[in-house]
Amino acid sequence: MSYFFLDEYKNMEAYVPGEQPKDRQYIKLNANESSLPPSPKVMEAMSIAQINGMSHYSDPHCTELRKAIGAAFGFGYDQVFVGNGADEVLGFCMLAFFKPGMKVCFPDITYDFYRTYAKTYRLDYEQFPIKEDMTLDVEDYINTDRDVILANPNNPTGLSLPVSEIERIVAKNPHRMVIIDEAYVDYGNESCVPLVQKYDNLVVVQTFSKSRNMPGARIGFAISSKGIIDDMNKIKFTFNPFNMSSLAIAGGTAAIKDQEYFHKCVAEVIRIREEFEDELTGLGFEVIRTTTNFTFFKPKGISAKKMTEELRDRGILVRHYDEEKVKDYIRITIGTKMEMEIVLNNIKEITAECK
Ligand SMILES: *Cc1c(COP(=O)(O)O)cnc(C)c1O
Repeated sequence: MSYFFLDEYKNMEAYVPGEQPKDRQYIKLNANESSLPPSPKVMEAMSIAQINGMSHYSDPHCTELRKAIGAAFGFGYDQVFVGNGADEVLGFCMLAFFKPGMKVCFPDITYDFYRTYAKTYRLDYEQFPIKEDMTLDVEDYINTDRDVILANPNNPTGLSLPVSEIERIVAKNPHRMVIIDEAYVDYGNESCVPLVQKYDNLVVVQTFSKSRNMPGARIGFAISSKGIIDDMNKIKFTFNPFNMSSLAIAGGTAAIKDQEYFHKCVAEVIRIREEFEDELTGLGFEVIRTTTNFTFFKPKGISAKKMTEELRDRGILVRHYDEEKVKDYIRITIGTKMEMEIVLNNIKEITAECK
């Protein structure tokens, strides 16, 4: 650490992304990325014209992309904020609305980035324990004055709260901010976005990294009240006015407009996931039925950690968490049908060797 690094960041805790080793070719199913390509319309949009356009700055207001996202949800662009991935959108929320000592809460088992933010911004955070069955106790979040950050569905458990329960949290106190991270909402869940019409303290965050197959493009967005979106834009213009590249703006706009391709991809992921979950259940594994692009299960006859290592040796990357409550589980992103067949065959071989 250099002489110049600020003391207040000494307790910061960096987020550890799913590994991306380059030593060999892997089937990479450890970061909930997509094995499907983006819409062909995206490639058209990110064309030579866009490359030529790089000699100028991108639109700092990202109007085209915000309008397209707004239109897809029935909102004006003044209720849409876009950022360099949902992670940056959450980062701008922190910058605009949270200061050291402010009280926030989130579950003990959830997307690790929330704790990273809380530590970096020196928030007073509480992590409410998930229940035995891995669901959240909604009363924890209703009966607190803390601002709330929830991934719905949650990651890595894949479980979600119904919108009616989220509404109870939001409605409890209009002066408390509720941030709902809907990274996986498109895989068969009801979205909280319509609640934004009714409540001014709700921020719904989504991403193009999962259901739009574009994690490398870095596009995330928030839908919220005009006031909140306006504040986030104000902060953006003090930090990085041109946060979205012209390529991301063009590609993202094309992707959100291609609803047909989007529905086709989501349906395919759901179908492959259900088949894969059925197979795992058939092996006697305990499978949490998710509504996401990943599966979460407890293997039988071998520890989750060992299974993860064995799969890695065979060129398959999956995610295992050391935390006590989920250490017996493995999270595997749903890839193509062929990838999942290879994974399943390897799982069967590894289990057979353990007998
Ligand atoms: C994947 C994921 C994100 C990251 O989204 P980006 O747009 O790639 O930054 C955010 N929240 C959750 C819960 C995720 O699983």
